[in-house]
Amino acid sequence: MTTDTLGRRLHDLRISVTDRCNFRCPYCMPAEVFGESYKFLPKDEILTFEEIARLTRIFAGLGVSKVRVTGGEPLLRTDLHLLIQMLANVDGVEDLTLTTNGYMLAPRAQQLKDAGLKRITVSLDTLDEEIFRQMNGRGFDPTRVLDGIQAAETAGLSPIKINSVVQKGVNEHTLVDLARHFKGTGHIVRFIEYMDVGNRNGWKWDQVVPAQEIVDLIDAEMPLEPVESNYPGEVANRYRYLDGQGEIGVIASVTQPFCAGCTRARISTDGQLFTCLFASRGISLRDPLRDGADDAQMTEIIAKVWSNRTDRYSEERTDLAATQNAPQKVEMYQIGG
Ligand code: SF4
Repeated sequence: MTTDTLGRRLHDLRISVTDRCNFRCPYCMPAEVFGESYKFLPKDEILTFEEIARLTRIFAGLGVSKVRVTGGEPLLRTDLHLLIQMLANVDGVEDLTLTTNGYMLAPRAQQLKDAGLKRITVSLDTLDEEIFRQMNGRGFDPTRVLDGIQAAETAGLSPIKINSVVQKGVNEHTLVDLARHFKGTGHIVRFIEYMDVGNRNGWKWDQVVPAQEIVDLIDAEMPLEPVESNYPGEVANRYRYLDGQGEIGVIASVTQPFCAGCTRARISTDGQLFTCLFASRGISLRDPLRDGADDAQMTEIIAKVWSNRTDRYSEERTDLAATQNAPQKVEMYQIGG
C-alpha cells in the first residue's frame, strides 16, 4: 500500500482518455475559448489503450482498486469498449466506472456493460430545457441524456450516479425538480458545489450554493437524513429520504473540503500524473514509458510522486486566494473531474 505525506493511500485512479468534448460547459470548456479552431492534442501525443492498460496494471500493483474513465467526453474516444475490456481484466481493479455527459450513451450502454464496465456516472446539471441548453454551451436539450440514463439502466449499470453542478443564479432553482425526478428510481443524484477548476470559468465565491443550502432546499419538500459514507474517502456526503425512496449525495469541495481522505490520482490524456484536481503541474508517465522504462522503473516513478504528495488545495483555497498569486491550474477537461 502506497501512502503520501498525509498518510493517504493510493486507491483511486482517474484516467482521461480524450481532451475533446461535444459539450462546451462554461464552467469547464467555455465555447469562446474552445472554438472550432482550438487545437486539441494530436493522436500521437495521447496515450494508447495498451499504454493506459499497462499503467493501470502498475497502479493496481501500488494499491489502486477503483478506476474511473473520464475525459473530456470519453465516449468520443473510438472503440472505447475495447479499453474497458482491457481494464476490466487488470488484476486488482475491483471497481471500473465511467463519467460521461450521456449525450452519446444510449446506443453504447450495453456494449460498455458487456465489455466489463461496472457502474456509470452521468452529468446532468438540470432538467430545465432552456437552462440545460445554456449550461452545455451547445444548445442541446436533455432528451438524449435521459435516454442514455434509461439505456444504462436497461443494460444493468445501476444504480446510476447523476452529477449536477449547482451554480447560484443559474440552476439552483431547478435542483429540487432534478431530485424529485430521480427519487424512487434507485439512481443517486449528487449535487456538486461549483468549484474553481482550471483557470477559465471566472469562478467567484458568491456563485457557490453551499452544500447545506442544497440539502435544506430538498429537505423542505422531501425530508432527508444524513447517512454514513460507504467507505473512507467517499467524495459525496450521503442523505437518504425519510420515506425510504432512495438517497442523494452532495459534493462539498468548497464549504466542507475532504482533502484529508483524498485517495485519487489522475492521469491526463497525454499521460501526465496529477495528484490533485487543482494541481499546477503533472509528471509525465508517457515519456519514460515510450523511452523503454520497465514496470519496476515505472512503479518507482509513481510511488515516488505519490509518497511525496502534499496536496490539499480545497483546504488551502481561502489562504491561496488571499495571496493573490495562486499558480495556474491544470484544466478539468485535461484530467476529468
Ligand atoms: S482538492 Fe485535491 S487533494 Fe483535495 S480532495 Fe480535491 S483532489 Fe483531493
